Amino acid sequence: MKSDPIWSTPDDHLRKALPDTAQLYFCPAEVQRMARRFQAGFSGLVSYAVKANPAPEVLENLVAAGLHAFDVASVAEMRAVRAVCPDAVLHYNNPVRSRVEVAQAALIGIASASVDCAGELAKLAVLPRGTEISVRLALPVKGAAYDFGTKFGAGPDQAVNLLAQVAAMGFTPAMTFHPGTQCGDAGAWAAYIHACAVVAVRADVRLARLNVGGGFAAHRGGAAPDLGAVFARITQETHAAFGADAPQLVCEPGRAMVAEACQLATRVKSLRGDAVYLNDGIYGALAEWRDITGHDRLRVVTADGATRAGALVPRIVFGPTCDSIDRLPDPVLLPSDLSEEDYVIFAGMGAYGSAIATRFNGYGPDAMVTVAAFSA
Ligand SMILES: *Cc1c(COP(=O)(O)O)cnc(C)c1O
Repeated sequence: MKSDPIWSTPDDHLRKALPDTAQLYFCPAEVQRMARRFQAGFSGLVSYAVKANPAPEVLENLVAAGLHAFDVASVAEMRAVRAVCPDAVLHYNNPVRSRVEVAQAALIGIASASVDCAGELAKLAVLPRGTEISVRLALPVKGAAYDFGTKFGAGPDQAVNLLAQVAAMGFTPAMTFHPGTQCGDAGAWAAYIHACAVVAVRADVRLARLNVGGGFAAHRGGAAPDLGAVFARITQETHAAFGADAPQLVCEPGRAMVAEACQLATRVKSLRGDAVYLNDGIYGALAEWRDITGHDRLRVVTADGATRAGALVPRIVFGPTCDSIDRLPDPVLLPSDLSEEDYVIFAGMGAYGSAIATRFNGYGPDAMVTVAAFSA
C-alpha cells in the first residue's frame, strides 16, 4: 500500500498526540476501495478529476489501484499527475484555455481535450490530428448541488456545428457533459446521453467516445448514494440512445472517488451559550459546507477518547478566524455534553475541502495524517 500508515485510526492519533490544530486524516485503503468500485462497476474508462483532491498520496493510491486516466484542468495538474504516473493518460477538460496553455498541453502530450465554442476549437488546431476532441454539451438539467451548465458547455445547435467541425478537422470526435456536482438524480445523465445521441445524428458524426462527466454523489448524510444504480442507468440509456453504434464510455468522478478518503478532526476552542467555536471553518477544510453539508456525518470524542453520546442539540458553529462570515450557515446538531477541547470529527471530507482550504489568519488543516482505517 502507498503511504504506509503510522496511526491505526484518527482516534488513536487524537488520543496520543492531542493536536490543537485541525487534522485531516487520510486512509489509503478508502481511496483504493473507491477506485476499484468505479472500475468494477462503470462500463467504460474511469478517469479521475484531479481538482477534487490533488494530493500526491491520493494520486499514488489511485494509480496503485489501477487507475491511469486523469481529468486535468491546468498545466500544473498535468505535471502533478505525470510526477506520480509518467505514462498517465491526460484528458484536458477545462474548455477555456490560453494559447500558452494549449502549447504546453501539446508538449506534455494530452490524449483528449473538450471544447464548447468555435473560438476555443480554433486554438486547438495546433494539437496533433487523432487527438480526441469532445464537444461539451450543456442542457438546463436539474439534480445537482450546483449547476455547471451556466459556466461551460454549448447548447444543442452549437454542439452540432462544433462536432461536425471537429470531425472535418481530422480530430477523433467525442462528446462530453457534466451533470453538476453532487448529482443525486440518474435522470440527469439519461437526459444528457439522449441529447448527445441527437446531436451526433444531426452532425452526421459517429462518436468514438462519450464522456459522462463527474457529478457522482458522495455520502453527505442520510443513506449513502446508490452508485451501482447510476452506473446501470448510464449503460442502459447509452444502449437505448445509440443502439449498435454505442460509443465507448468514459467517466471522470472527482467528489465520489475521494470523499471517503479523509476525515477532518476539529477541536472545540470555546463554548458560549449555544455557539461553538471550532479550530477550523469555512476558510479551511469546511469551505464547502455552505453548499454541501454533511448533516449527520459527524461525531464527537473527548480528549481521553470517549465518545460523547448526549442528546443532539442545534448549535451555531463558528470557525477560528477573525472574520464574522466564518460560520457554518445552518445550526449543526451536536451532543448536549459537548465540552471545550473535545474533538468534532467530520467524515467524508476528502473531496474539495482540503483542495480549497486556505491558511487565512494562520488556521486551516495541517498536512494530512495517514491512518490504516477510520475506526478500529
Ligand atoms: C469538476 C469536474 C469533474 C468532477 O466533478 P465531481 O462533481 O467532483 O465528480 C469532472 N469533469 C470536469 C470537466 C470537471 O470540471
